[in-house]
Amino acid sequence: MKILFYDTKSYDKESFEAKAKDYPDIQIEYLKSELVPSTAKLAKGYDAICAFVSSDVGTETIEVLHACGVKLILMRCAGFNNVDVEKAAACGIKVMRVPGYSPEAVAEHAMALALAANRRIHKAYVRVRENDFSLGGMQGVNFYKKTAGIVGTGKIGAAMARICHGFGMNVIAYDKYQNPALDFVTYVSLDELLAQSDLISLHCPLMDETYHMINRESIQKMKDGVILVNTSRGGLVKTADLIEGIRARKFFAVGLDVYEEEKKNVFEDRSDEIMETSITARLLSFPNVIITSHQGFFTYEALDAISETTLNNAMAFTKGERTGNEVEVE
Ligand code: NAD
Repeated sequence: MKILFYDTKSYDKESFEAKAKDYPDIQIEYLKSELVPSTAKLAKGYDAICAFVSSDVGTETIEVLHACGVKLILMRCAGFNNVDVEKAAACGIKVMRVPGYSPEAVAEHAMALALAANRRIHKAYVRVRENDFSLGGMQGVNFYKKTAGIVGTGKIGAAMARICHGFGMNVIAYDKYQNPALDFVTYVSLDELLAQSDLISLHCPLMDETYHMINRESIQKMKDGVILVNTSRGGLVKTADLIEGIRARKFFAVGLDVYEEEKKNVFEDRSDEIMETSITARLLSFPNVIITSHQGFFTYEALDAISETTLNNAMAFTKGERTGNEVEVE
Protein backbone atom coordinates (compact mmCIF):
# COMPACT_ATOMS: atom_id res chain seq x y z
CA MET A 1 0.00 0.00 0.00
CA LYS A 2 1.36 3.41 -1.02
CA ILE A 3 0.26 6.34 1.12
CA LEU A 4 0.79 10.01 0.31
CA PHE A 5 1.02 11.93 3.57
CA TYR A 6 -0.05 15.58 3.33
CA ASP A 7 0.87 18.56 5.50
CA THR A 8 3.73 16.73 7.22
CA LYS A 9 5.20 18.29 10.33
CA SER A 10 8.43 17.01 11.88
CA TYR A 11 6.57 15.36 14.76
CA ASP A 12 4.21 13.56 12.31
CA LYS A 13 7.11 12.07 10.40
CA GLU A 14 8.90 11.11 13.61
CA SER A 15 5.95 9.22 15.06
CA PHE A 16 4.87 7.57 11.77
CA GLU A 17 8.41 6.55 10.80
CA ALA A 18 8.93 4.95 14.21
CA LYS A 19 5.74 2.86 13.77
CA ALA A 20 6.10 2.19 10.01
CA LYS A 21 9.02 -0.17 10.72
CA ASP A 22 6.41 -2.67 11.94
CA TYR A 23 4.38 -2.38 8.71
CA PRO A 24 6.66 -3.56 5.88
CA ASP A 25 3.75 -3.62 3.38
CA ILE A 26 3.17 0.10 3.78
CA GLN A 27 5.18 2.72 1.95
CA ILE A 28 4.72 6.36 2.97
CA GLU A 29 5.77 9.44 1.02
CA TYR A 30 5.72 12.63 3.11
CA LEU A 31 4.66 15.97 1.61
CA LYS A 32 4.87 19.34 3.33
CA SER A 33 2.06 20.72 1.14
CA GLU A 34 -1.38 20.89 2.59
CA LEU A 35 -4.19 18.98 0.94
CA VAL A 36 -6.26 21.26 -1.31
CA PRO A 37 -7.74 20.55 -4.77
CA SER A 38 -4.56 21.73 -6.54
CA THR A 39 -2.24 19.44 -4.52
CA ALA A 40 -4.63 16.48 -4.59
CA LYS A 41 -3.38 15.62 -8.08
CA LEU A 42 0.00 14.66 -6.59
CA ALA A 43 -1.76 11.54 -5.30
CA LYS A 44 -1.71 9.89 -8.71
CA GLY A 45 -0.31 6.38 -8.28
CA TYR A 46 -1.06 6.22 -4.55
CA ASP A 47 -3.62 3.90 -2.94
CA ALA A 48 -4.33 6.18 -0.04
CA ILE A 49 -3.75 9.67 1.25
CA CYS A 50 -3.29 10.71 4.86
CA ALA A 51 -4.88 14.00 5.88
CA PHE A 52 -5.54 16.03 9.00
CA VAL A 53 -8.24 18.12 10.59
CA SER A 54 -7.04 21.26 8.77
CA SER A 55 -6.94 19.59 5.31
CA ASP A 56 -9.47 20.50 2.63
CA VAL A 57 -11.10 17.15 1.96
CA GLY A 58 -14.13 18.75 0.34
CA THR A 59 -16.01 17.86 -2.85
CA GLU A 60 -13.43 19.20 -5.31
CA THR A 61 -10.47 17.55 -3.58
CA ILE A 62 -12.28 14.21 -3.50
CA GLU A 63 -13.10 14.48 -7.21
CA VAL A 64 -9.38 14.94 -7.95
CA LEU A 65 -8.37 12.10 -5.61
CA HIS A 66 -10.94 9.86 -7.30
CA ALA A 67 -9.52 10.73 -10.73
CA CYS A 68 -6.05 9.85 -9.38
CA GLY A 69 -7.28 6.38 -8.35
CA VAL A 70 -7.11 6.93 -4.59
CA LYS A 71 -9.26 4.40 -2.74
CA LEU A 72 -8.73 5.36 0.89
CA ILE A 73 -8.60 8.59 2.88
CA LEU A 74 -6.82 8.09 6.19
CA MET A 75 -7.71 10.89 8.59
CA ARG A 76 -5.03 11.07 11.30
CA CYS A 77 -7.52 12.68 13.69
CA ALA A 78 -10.88 12.01 15.32
CA GLY A 79 -12.99 14.73 13.68
CA PHE A 80 -14.05 14.49 10.02
CA ASN A 81 -16.26 17.56 9.58
CA ASN A 82 -13.81 18.75 6.88
CA VAL A 83 -14.48 15.64 4.74
CA ASP A 84 -17.29 15.44 2.19
CA VAL A 85 -18.23 11.96 3.30
CA GLU A 86 -21.15 11.63 0.85
CA LYS A 87 -18.91 12.55 -2.07
CA ALA A 88 -16.25 10.06 -0.94
CA ALA A 89 -18.87 7.30 -0.68
CA ALA A 90 -20.26 8.19 -4.11
CA CYS A 91 -16.72 7.89 -5.54
CA GLY A 92 -16.14 4.55 -3.80
CA ILE A 93 -13.44 6.05 -1.55
CA LYS A 94 -13.38 4.77 2.02
CA VAL A 95 -12.72 7.28 4.82
CA MET A 96 -11.14 6.04 8.05
CA ARG A 97 -10.26 7.99 11.17
CA VAL A 98 -8.72 7.62 14.60
CA PRO A 99 -11.65 7.98 16.96
CA GLY A 100 -10.19 7.68 20.45
CA TYR A 101 -6.41 7.93 20.36
CA SER A 102 -6.03 9.61 23.71
CA PRO A 103 -9.16 11.18 25.12
CA GLU A 104 -7.19 12.14 28.23
CA ALA A 105 -4.78 14.26 26.14
CA VAL A 106 -7.64 16.54 25.03
CA ALA A 107 -9.50 16.43 28.35
CA GLU A 108 -6.35 17.34 30.31
CA HIS A 109 -5.82 20.25 27.91
CA ALA A 110 -9.42 21.36 28.44
CA MET A 111 -8.82 21.45 32.19
CA ALA A 112 -5.46 23.19 31.65
CA LEU A 113 -7.29 25.90 29.68
CA ALA A 114 -10.01 26.19 32.30
CA LEU A 115 -7.44 26.59 35.09
CA ALA A 116 -5.14 28.91 33.14
CA ALA A 117 -7.99 31.19 32.05
CA ASN A 118 -9.56 31.18 35.51
CA ARG A 119 -6.32 31.92 37.38
CA ARG A 120 -5.01 34.23 34.61
CA ILE A 121 -1.82 32.16 34.27
CA HIS A 122 -1.23 33.69 30.81
CA LYS A 123 -1.17 37.18 32.37
CA ALA A 124 0.87 36.09 35.40
CA TYR A 125 3.54 34.48 33.22
CA VAL A 126 4.17 37.72 31.33
CA ARG A 127 3.85 39.96 34.39
CA VAL A 128 6.34 38.07 36.57
CA ARG A 129 8.86 37.97 33.69
CA GLU A 130 8.80 41.77 33.84
CA ASN A 131 9.46 41.77 37.59
CA ASP A 132 5.87 42.84 38.19
CA PHE A 133 4.58 40.84 41.15
CA SER A 134 1.31 42.74 41.62
CA LEU A 135 -1.94 40.77 41.84
CA GLY A 136 -4.46 43.17 40.26
CA GLY A 137 -6.76 41.35 37.86
CA MET A 138 -5.44 37.91 38.86
CA GLN A 139 -8.17 36.84 41.26
CA GLY A 140 -9.77 33.55 40.30
CA VAL A 141 -12.53 31.27 41.57
CA ASN A 142 -12.34 27.83 43.22
CA PHE A 143 -13.51 24.89 41.13
CA TYR A 144 -14.05 22.78 44.26
CA LYS A 145 -17.80 22.31 44.92
CA LYS A 146 -18.73 24.24 41.76
CA THR A 147 -20.77 22.74 38.91
CA ALA A 148 -19.09 21.52 35.73
CA GLY A 149 -21.36 21.13 32.70
CA ILE A 150 -20.03 18.72 30.07
CA VAL A 151 -21.64 18.97 26.62
CA GLY A 152 -21.08 15.61 24.93
CA THR A 153 -19.96 12.70 27.12
CA GLY A 154 -18.24 10.55 24.52
CA LYS A 155 -14.61 9.57 25.02
CA ILE A 156 -13.17 13.06 25.65
CA GLY A 157 -16.21 14.43 27.51
CA ALA A 158 -16.15 11.38 29.79
CA ALA A 159 -12.44 11.94 30.53
CA MET A 160 -13.16 15.61 31.29
CA ALA A 161 -16.08 14.59 33.54
CA ARG A 162 -13.73 12.29 35.50
CA ILE A 163 -11.17 15.10 35.87
CA CYS A 164 -13.83 17.54 37.09
CA HIS A 165 -15.13 14.89 39.50
CA GLY A 166 -11.57 14.52 40.82
CA PHE A 167 -11.51 18.27 41.47
CA GLY A 168 -14.50 17.83 43.79
CA MET A 169 -16.92 19.42 41.34
CA ASN A 170 -20.57 18.54 40.92
CA VAL A 171 -20.68 17.18 37.35
CA ILE A 172 -23.73 17.54 35.12
CA ALA A 173 -23.89 16.71 31.42
CA TYR A 174 -25.94 16.98 28.28
CA ASP A 175 -25.77 14.37 25.54
CA LYS A 176 -28.23 12.67 23.25
CA TYR A 177 -27.02 9.36 24.68
CA GLN A 178 -26.15 8.84 28.34
CA ASN A 179 -22.82 7.24 29.18
CA PRO A 180 -23.60 4.51 31.76
CA ALA A 181 -19.97 4.44 32.96
CA LEU A 182 -20.38 7.95 34.39
CA ASP A 183 -22.42 7.08 37.47
CA PHE A 184 -21.33 10.29 39.22
CA VAL A 185 -22.79 12.48 36.45
CA THR A 186 -26.34 13.88 36.41
CA TYR A 187 -27.73 14.22 32.90
CA VAL A 188 -29.83 17.34 32.31
CA SER A 189 -31.26 19.21 29.33
CA LEU A 190 -28.98 21.64 27.51
CA ASP A 191 -30.95 24.59 28.92
CA GLU A 192 -30.53 23.24 32.47
CA LEU A 193 -26.82 22.72 31.89
CA LEU A 194 -26.42 26.28 30.61
CA ALA A 195 -28.34 27.66 33.61
CA GLN A 196 -26.56 25.65 36.32
CA SER A 197 -22.91 25.34 35.22
CA ASP A 198 -20.01 27.38 36.58
CA LEU A 199 -17.71 25.72 34.04
CA ILE A 200 -19.01 24.63 30.62
CA SER A 201 -16.76 22.39 28.52
CA LEU A 202 -17.74 21.49 24.94
CA HIS A 203 -17.01 17.96 23.73
CA CYS A 204 -19.65 17.18 21.11
CA PRO A 205 -18.81 16.95 17.41
CA LEU A 206 -19.45 19.74 14.92
CA MET A 207 -22.50 18.87 12.84
CA ASP A 208 -25.37 20.85 11.34
CA GLU A 209 -27.31 20.53 14.60
CA THR A 210 -24.40 21.64 16.80
CA TYR A 211 -23.11 24.46 14.56
CA HIS A 212 -23.16 27.71 16.60
CA MET A 213 -24.83 25.97 19.54
CA ILE A 214 -23.15 28.62 21.69
CA ASN A 215 -24.77 31.81 20.43
CA ARG A 216 -26.42 34.95 21.81
CA GLU A 217 -29.49 33.02 22.94
CA SER A 218 -27.61 30.17 24.67
CA ILE A 219 -25.13 32.62 26.22
CA GLN A 220 -28.05 34.54 27.76
CA LYS A 221 -29.17 31.30 29.43
CA MET A 222 -25.77 30.85 31.12
CA LYS A 223 -24.95 31.91 34.68
CA ASP A 224 -23.20 35.24 35.03
CA GLY A 225 -19.49 34.62 35.62
CA VAL A 226 -19.44 31.30 33.78
CA ILE A 227 -16.19 29.83 32.46
CA LEU A 228 -16.42 28.43 28.91
CA VAL A 229 -13.91 26.01 27.42
CA ASN A 230 -13.98 24.74 23.83
CA THR A 231 -11.55 22.03 22.77
CA SER A 232 -13.96 20.44 20.28
CA ARG A 233 -14.48 22.48 17.10
CA GLY A 234 -14.53 26.25 16.52
CA GLY A 235 -17.87 26.14 14.70
CA LEU A 236 -19.69 25.15 17.90
CA VAL A 237 -19.32 28.76 19.08
CA LYS A 238 -20.57 31.81 17.20
CA THR A 239 -17.53 34.01 17.80
CA ALA A 240 -19.29 37.34 17.26
CA ASP A 241 -21.85 36.42 19.96
CA LEU A 242 -19.08 35.17 22.27
CA ILE A 243 -17.29 38.52 21.94
CA GLU A 244 -20.58 40.30 22.68
CA GLY A 245 -21.00 38.10 25.78
CA ILE A 246 -17.45 38.76 26.97
CA ARG A 247 -18.01 42.52 26.53
CA ALA A 248 -21.25 42.22 28.53
CA ARG A 249 -19.13 40.64 31.38
CA LYS A 250 -21.08 37.36 31.09
CA PHE A 251 -17.94 35.24 31.22
CA PHE A 252 -15.44 35.02 34.06
CA ALA A 253 -13.03 33.33 31.68
CA VAL A 254 -12.89 31.68 28.28
CA GLY A 255 -10.40 29.05 27.10
CA LEU A 256 -10.34 28.09 23.43
CA ASP A 257 -8.19 25.46 21.76
CA VAL A 258 -10.35 25.77 18.65
CA TYR A 259 -12.03 28.81 17.12
CA GLU A 260 -13.81 29.67 13.90
CA GLU A 261 -10.93 31.46 12.20
CA GLU A 262 -8.33 28.81 12.91
CA LYS A 263 -8.19 27.07 9.53
CA LYS A 264 -5.33 29.15 8.10
CA ASN A 265 -3.52 29.29 11.42
CA VAL A 266 -3.44 25.63 12.39
CA PHE A 267 0.17 24.70 13.09
CA GLU A 268 1.61 27.56 11.00
CA ASP A 269 4.02 30.25 12.16
CA ARG A 270 2.26 33.43 11.00
CA SER A 271 4.10 35.79 13.34
CA ASP A 272 5.50 37.86 10.44
CA GLU A 273 2.16 38.32 8.73
CA ILE A 274 -0.30 41.15 8.97
CA MET A 275 -3.56 39.42 9.81
CA GLU A 276 -6.35 40.05 7.34
CA THR A 277 -9.12 39.69 9.92
CA SER A 278 -9.24 40.82 13.51
CA ILE A 279 -11.68 38.50 15.27
CA THR A 280 -9.04 36.28 16.85
CA ALA A 281 -6.97 39.35 17.74
CA ARG A 282 -10.06 40.89 19.35
CA LEU A 283 -10.59 37.74 21.42
CA LEU A 284 -6.95 37.82 22.49
CA SER A 285 -7.30 41.42 23.60
CA PHE A 286 -9.53 40.35 26.50
CA PRO A 287 -7.63 39.67 29.74
CA ASN A 288 -9.86 36.71 30.62
CA VAL A 289 -9.44 34.84 27.32
CA ILE A 290 -6.73 32.33 26.52
CA ILE A 291 -6.35 30.68 23.12
CA THR A 292 -4.14 27.75 22.21
CA SER A 293 -3.32 26.33 18.82
CA HIS A 294 -5.55 23.26 18.39
CA GLN A 295 -3.05 21.37 20.48
CA GLY A 296 -5.35 19.36 22.74
CA PHE A 297 -4.27 16.15 21.04
CA PHE A 298 -0.55 16.99 21.13
CA THR A 299 1.05 14.57 23.58
CA TYR A 300 3.61 11.83 22.97
CA GLU A 301 1.08 9.17 23.94
CA ALA A 302 -1.56 10.54 21.55
CA LEU A 303 0.79 10.80 18.53
CA ASP A 304 1.98 7.26 19.16
CA ALA A 305 -1.62 6.01 19.20
CA ILE A 306 -2.56 8.10 16.11
CA SER A 307 0.24 6.62 13.98
CA GLU A 308 -0.47 3.06 15.14
CA THR A 309 -4.23 3.25 14.52
CA THR A 310 -3.78 4.97 11.14
CA LEU A 311 -1.41 2.24 9.95
CA ASN A 312 -3.73 -0.47 11.34
CA ASN A 313 -6.59 1.19 9.43
CA ALA A 314 -4.54 1.04 6.24
CA MET A 315 -3.70 -2.65 6.77
CA ALA A 316 -7.31 -3.56 7.58
CA PHE A 317 -8.40 -1.82 4.37
CA THR A 318 -5.98 -3.85 2.27
CA LYS A 319 -7.26 -7.07 3.89
CA GLY A 320 -10.92 -6.05 3.46
CA GLU A 321 -11.40 -6.09 7.24
CA ARG A 322 -13.51 -3.68 9.28
CA THR A 323 -12.04 -1.90 12.31
CA GLY A 324 -14.98 0.25 13.42
CA ASN A 325 -12.93 3.30 12.41
CA GLU A 326 -14.71 3.66 9.06
CA VAL A 327 -16.60 6.95 8.63
CA GLU A 328 -20.07 5.95 7.46
CA VAL A 329 -22.56 8.12 5.57
CA GLU A 330 -25.48 8.73 7.95
P1 NAD B 1 -17.10 10.91 20.67
O1 NAD B 1 -17.75 10.55 19.38
O2 NAD B 1 -16.54 9.82 21.54
O3 NAD B 1 -18.14 11.74 21.57
C1 NAD B 1 -18.97 12.74 21.07
C2 NAD B 1 -20.21 12.78 21.98
O4 NAD B 1 -21.01 13.89 21.56
C3 NAD B 1 -21.08 11.52 21.86
O5 NAD B 1 -21.37 11.01 23.16
C4 NAD B 1 -22.33 12.02 21.16
O6 NAD B 1 -23.52 11.33 21.56
C5 NAD B 1 -22.35 13.47 21.64
N1 NAD B 1 -23.20 14.32 20.84
C6 NAD B 1 -23.54 14.21 19.53
N2 NAD B 1 -24.38 15.20 19.19
C7 NAD B 1 -24.60 15.93 20.30
C8 NAD B 1 -25.38 17.07 20.58
N3 NAD B 1 -26.14 17.65 19.64
N4 NAD B 1 -25.36 17.57 21.83
C9 NAD B 1 -24.62 16.98 22.80
N5 NAD B 1 -23.85 15.89 22.60
C10 NAD B 1 -23.87 15.37 21.36
O7 NAD B 1 -16.00 11.98 20.31
P2 NAD B 1 -14.70 12.37 21.16
O8 NAD B 1 -13.57 11.48 20.79
O9 NAD B 1 -15.06 12.53 22.59
O10 NAD B 1 -14.35 13.80 20.51
C11 NAD B 1 -15.20 14.91 20.71
C12 NAD B 1 -14.76 16.03 19.78
O11 NAD B 1 -13.48 16.51 20.22
C13 NAD B 1 -14.51 15.61 18.33
O12 NAD B 1 -15.70 15.68 17.57
C14 NAD B 1 -13.50 16.59 17.85
O13 NAD B 1 -14.18 17.65 17.22
C15 NAD B 1 -12.84 17.12 19.12
N6 NAD B 1 -11.39 16.85 19.20
C16 NAD B 1 -10.55 17.89 19.43
C17 NAD B 1 -9.17 17.67 19.53
C18 NAD B 1 -8.19 18.78 19.82
O14 NAD B 1 -6.98 18.61 19.61
N7 NAD B 1 -8.63 19.92 20.33
C19 NAD B 1 -8.68 16.36 19.38
C20 NAD B 1 -9.58 15.33 19.15
C21 NAD B 1 -10.95 15.57 19.07
